Amino acid sequence: MKEYPKTLIDRLEKRNNSQPLFIQAVNEVFESLEPIIGENPDIETYSILERISEPERQIMFRVCWMDDNGKIQVNRGYRVGFSSVLGPYKGGLRFHPTVRLDVIKFLAFEQIFKNSLTGLAIGGGKGGSDFNPKGKSDNEIMRFCQAFMTELYHFLGENTDVPAGDIGVGSREIGYLFGQYKRLTKRFEQGVLTGKQVGLGGSLVRKEATGFGAVYFAEEMLKRKKDSVKGKTCVVSGSGNVALYCARKLEDLGATVVAMSDSSGSIHDPNGVDLDLVRSIKEVDRARIDTYAPHKPGSKFFPDKKVWQFKCDLAFPCATQNELDGDEVKTLIDNGCLGVIEGANMPTTPEAVGVLQEKGLLFAPGKAANAGGVAVSALEMQQNASLQSWSFKEVDSRLQEIMAAIHHDCVHWAEKYRRPNDYVFGANVAGFLRIADGVKAYGVI
Ligand code: NDP
Repeated sequence: MKEYPKTLIDRLEKRNNSQPLFIQAVNEVFESLEPIIGENPDIETYSILERISEPERQIMFRVCWMDDNGKIQVNRGYRVGFSSVLGPYKGGLRFHPTVRLDVIKFLAFEQIFKNSLTGLAIGGGKGGSDFNPKGKSDNEIMRFCQAFMTELYHFLGENTDVPAGDIGVGSREIGYLFGQYKRLTKRFEQGVLTGKQVGLGGSLVRKEATGFGAVYFAEEMLKRKKDSVKGKTCVVSGSGNVALYCARKLEDLGATVVAMSDSSGSIHDPNGVDLDLVRSIKEVDRARIDTYAPHKPGSKFFPDKKVWQFKCDLAFPCATQNELDGDEVKTLIDNGCLGVIEGANMPTTPEAVGVLQEKGLLFAPGKAANAGGVAVSALEMQQNASLQSWSFKEVDSRLQEIMAAIHHDCVHWAEKYRRPNDYVFGANVAGFLRIADGVKAYGVI
């Protein structure tokens, strides 16, 4: 690595010494930017890398709420506003016991580049809590969301910071959060949260957007190789929002999804996973995926196993960070896999990305491939601001255009620097240049 980014990484490591995920995310971006750093002395002169790798603000707060047994519970809440260069902070809220500042910072950092890639006026942010929604009653979820929003609402606003969902936060939680925001502010400020229920300010296609968008991106990559998703055998990790609608779009386009998972293990269904059954288990019953196999002859549940062991043409990691490592990628390759498309944020370890690139497989980084979710969130903000609701077809066609444009930008920069298949490089450069222009234009602030 060049001296300038290397010195910065060393400094970041010292100042953020218990934040390995954040350092991993910054490292990957800085490494990619090396060729353009050499050609653009302004990047160092204007301290652009220093400024984009230090969050503008980081908020941590205590969340006290009462469980159904009358016991007071204490959790920790976070909201990191990383960059408002391109617009209000925009990014989801994650409720999961593994949430800590490191997780939120890495997600918020990735979000800056992803949001830039969409071409829309949205900055980068992320938030969440170590609250575990599993096994909680509906009333407990509501009380937690109300307590969380009571601490956070001062910092939000449709022109300041606009959260959405992520792991553990879907339209139910967004509804409770918005209700509490409305109660506290005495304002019906619809654009302050996205991912709202359709009919209550939510956009059609928002819940499908991240998964659909990842498949649209994959289709663009394959089109470039005169191929398509049709007829491909796929594995999708996770069975939450992103995974379900990724699998749904794959099926719509003629692919077969043979495996999905959750944190308890994987199901393998060689005849094609029944997505209505998965949705009913995970979204409606909020149960574990092991209850799938008894309902579907020919399928099998593998406790504590990941989906990467199964033969496939395409793999879509759609669960969580660092869920696909170097050895697992080698298994995928040995089984004939052609490519990995990230629906989740940073699900592929750096070692695994190295293997994929060395072996010349298709690899789509999350900040490009999963940008459909935040893109439709921004379309939700546009609809709220204009008091309009667009049809499913209209939003879906805008989503397809945005994903095609992101793909085009990635390829443009990758080809310009003679790395035609390097989507990591293309995405980082395309995302970075727009932000760097803004940082310079606004002066020293
Ligand atoms: P959900 O909560 O809806 O689903 C998450 C899924 O991943 C569940 O199946 C869950 O299993 C599994 N999972 C979560 N954590 C772990 C873990 N530590 N180990 C194994 N499995 C795990 O979340 P989303 O679908 O919304 O998010 C999935 C990924 O996509 C995340 O990386 C998120 O940041 C990213 N993303 C989401 C967007 C969105 O619009 N929702 C937008 C862009 C990116 P279980 O049910 O057992 O917990």
